Amino acid sequence: MKKELIRKKVEEIMKEIEDYYKLSGTVDLQALALEKGVYIHNSKVPVKINALTIPLVTDDFVTIINSKLRGRRRIYVLAHELGHVLLGHYEKGLEASANLDDHKVLKQPLKNFERDADFFADELLKTGKKYISTH
Ligand SMILES: [Zn+2]
Repeated sequence: MKKELIRKKVEEIMKEIEDYYKLSGTVDLQALALEKGVYIHNSKVPVKINALTIPLVTDDFVTIINSKLRGRRRIYVLAHELGHVLLGHYEKGLEASANLDDHKVLKQPLKNFERDADFFADELLKTGKKYISTH
């Protein structure tokens, strides 16, 4: 996916983030994800798995985040998983997503999905730095 298209997606969500910020003075990415139909749970999962996202038949998603992740790292993983959803990766053939420390094992086009979701997360957290809470 072209970087420009991903930046456009980030711009779209940034508008919502700014509105959200005006209302409450802080932005909880988890609450924002819920508005997008992404239900976040924190849970113990096997070591090396940062998160798992599973699409539901209702078109919603469940994301399980490794409860050991904290602060910025956790927010980054959350933003990455949200990226998969908002960039439409599940409509493009991604069946479920396991966010692992090591992406090297993945084959194309999964690797492209991972790269794009990382870019989305980078851009979102860079642009939204002053709004998004890391707690
Ligand atoms: Zn991923």
